[in-house]
Amino acid sequence: MLKLFDHISKRKKIFQSSEHDRVKIFLCGPTLYDLTHIGHARIFLTYDLLARHLYEKGFLADVLVNMTDINQNVFNKTIEQKIDYHELTKFYSDEFVQDLFLMNIHTITRLARASDYVPNMVENISQLIDNGYAYSANGNVYFDTSKSNEFGHLSKQSQVDLDLHRLDIGPNKKNHSDFLLWNSSDDFGFYWHEKFGTGIPWWHIQDTTIALENFGAQYDIHGGADELVFPHHEAHLAQLKSLAETKEPVKFWMYTSLVLSKGEKMSKSLGNMVLARDIIKKYDQNILRLYLFSTHYREKINYNEQDLSQKKMLLDKIHLTKLKLSETSSDTVSALCKNFFECLDDDLDSPSAINTIDRICDTVLNGDRISKEDFDKLMRVMGLVIR
Ligand SMILES: [Zn+2]
Repeated sequence: MLKLFDHISKRKKIFQSSEHDRVKIFLCGPTLYDLTHIGHARIFLTYDLLARHLYEKGFLADVLVNMTDINQNVFNKTIEQKIDYHELTKFYSDEFVQDLFLMNIHTITRLARASDYVPNMVENISQLIDNGYAYSANGNVYFDTSKSNEFGHLSKQSQVDLDLHRLDIGPNKKNHSDFLLWNSSDDFGFYWHEKFGTGIPWWHIQDTTIALENFGAQYDIHGGADELVFPHHEAHLAQLKSLAETKEPVKFWMYTSLVLSKGEKMSKSLGNMVLARDIIKKYDQNILRLYLFSTHYREKINYNEQDLSQKKMLLDKIHLTKLKLSETSSDTVSALCKNFFECLDDDLDSPSAINTIDRICDTVLNGDRISKEDFDKLMRVMGLVIR
């Protein structure tokens, strides 16, 4: 029985999908102005592992990833590189798809670009205004957080905590925590002319619209990096509730923790970014998976290349084990295989699952038996390609 940690209830809950055997998963995807570093890789690999585990359990994982191309950083990059907006975002979306391929991620069923949904975003903002959840102030449109009685629920903040933030500062906002739906600035070099004036749909309404258009009023899991909880997902949840009039539009909020490099978050400006493609080129994608999955997805990783390279020992053992496949598995190995799936059932406990694989390899290399079927199943779920 699969249990996943839900960020709202702060506990592991038994997983049940909202639609029979289909599991709808929304992942906050890349902003299209940079390449995939291993912090990003960790997010996509974690949900790839989850999707693979769900498949093995008989579910169909329907994984939607949004690609943010309406964003300040994207616009800054077009100016910095004197490049056309469409050309820039096309380049980075192609590179992202290439990175997914390099990481052996084939579980994403839908890739959505924010700019393809602008008319729907405009419709949603209009609906929020019409229903009294949003208002105009100095050309911008804001979500009125005082109308959402559970605002702060996801990030566990009281009204006092929320008031300490200065979100989306602008004149004539009603509450400190009100956030932008439409930014009327034309400083971005790219904008739409809509009934609210010239501007761009802001970050949070982009996700909400993409989720509603693809999944409707309710989906099973929302995933992404834990730094997105506030304000991004708090805003997304408030919008979803107001637009879909559903009490629980998302059943599980599931977050991956950061990969730190030299003690800090990876960023280009700090010069500590490690690209997934570079690691894969130097080692391979199996090593990247074994390394990232050796820490539970809710724990931080302090990236260290030596720790990563040490995973080669386990990979070598796995390769040797493949040379010893039998017709059937022994009782001991069957019990260990069962244990592997129990580990993943326990909130995707990949470190314990990897330890179990290690034990299986030791057992088989000491003369015990594993069937091809069992071996292939373990590799398939972990996304390891052993030739
Ligand atoms: Zn997002």
